[in-house]
Amino acid sequence: MLHGPGDLRVEDVPDPEPAAGEVLVRIEAATTCGTDVKMWRRGHPILDAYPARFGHEMAGVREDTGRRVLVGDSVACGSCRACAAGRPQICRDARWVLGGFAEWIAAPEAALHPVPDGLDAAGAAMAEPLAAAVHAVRRAPARPIAPDAGVLGGGPMGLMLAAVLVAEGRTVTLADRHAERRAQAEALGAMSAERLADHDVVFEAVGRPEAWRAAVQACAPGGCAVMVGGCASGSDAALPTRPLHYDEVDVRGAFHHDPEEVDAALDLLASGGLDWRMLATEPIGLEELEAALAAGNDGPARKWVVVPRATVSP
Ligand SMILES: [Zn+2]
Ligand SMILES: [Zn+2]
Repeated sequence: MLHGPGDLRVEDVPDPEPAAGEVLVRIEAATTCGTDVKMWRRGHPILDAYPARFGHEMAGVREDTGRRVLVGDSVACGSCRACAAGRPQICRDARWVLGGFAEWIAAPEAALHPVPDGLDAAGAAMAEPLAAAVHAVRRAPARPIAPDAGVLGGGPMGLMLAAVLVAEGRTVTLADRHAERRAQAEALGAMSAERLADHDVVFEAVGRPEAWRAAVQACAPGGCAVMVGGCASGSDAALPTRPLHYDEVDVRGAFHHDPEEVDAALDLLASGGLDWRMLATEPIGLEELEAALAAGNDGPARKWVVVPRATVSP
C-alpha cells in the first residue's frame, strides 16, 4: 500500500470484496514500469486516496472460473467524446484498475483478457505495456508507406516498439547511449545506432523534451514522429519549425491502448514475437519491491517481476 509519496508499506489487509461487475483475481505476477516508480516517489493523479493500491501490469487466475487472465489497467467509459469517436485509449472518464502488487485484486470483469495457453504470468503481465507499443505503431503510417523505422530510447518501451516493428517486417534502427540496450535491440532483430537520422517514421520512447526534438530531427522529409514517452507534467518541448513546415513532418502522440490491442499483444507474446524473458528479472516478493523501484536502471533494460505472496504474519 502507498501511504504517501515515498511511503510504501507491505501490510496484511483484508481481501478485497468484489463489487457488482467485479471478479476476484489471484495475482500470479505483476511487472514494474516507470509509472510505478513515479507513483511511489511522487504520487500520481490516477491513484486512489491514500492508502492506495498500485501496480498496473498484472496477470493471475480468476477465483470464480479458474481461468488465467491479464487484468487490464483501465476500462473506458464508453460514452465520452473520445469513446464515441472510437478512441477509448484517450477516454476522458476511464476507470483505472490498480493493485497488481498484492495477492488479490477485485477487478472489473470488463478489464479481463484471457491469457493464451503456454504464456507465463510474467509474460502476460507485459501485454499491458506491449499493447501501448502496438497502439503506437498503429498511430504511425503503415509499413508500405514507412518501411524504415527509428526508435529513440532502448528502455522496455523502446525495445517493445522495436519488436513490434520487426514483427511487421519493417527495417528498424534503435538508438540508445547504453551499449547493453543496443545489444538487446540487435537480439530482437533491429539494428542499433548511437543516434538516428533520415527515417520514414521515428518513435520517441524516452519521455524528455530534448528527445521529442531529436525525434522530429531524425525524420526523413514527409516522415512522421510518434511521441510515446510521456514527459514530466507541465513540460514544453521546443520543436524545430523547418522540418515541420518545409518537410511536412507529422507529429503524433500515442497514449495507452484499447482492449483489442491488449489481445493483439497477448497473441504476439504467445507466438514468441517478443522475447519477454529478455526484459524480465528473476521473481521478487512484495517485500523487495521498494528496493527494486529505488534501484534505478542504468544497464540493460529490465522489468522487475513481482510474485506476491504472504509475507506479513498476522
Ligand atoms: Zn506500465
Ligand atoms: Zn470515455
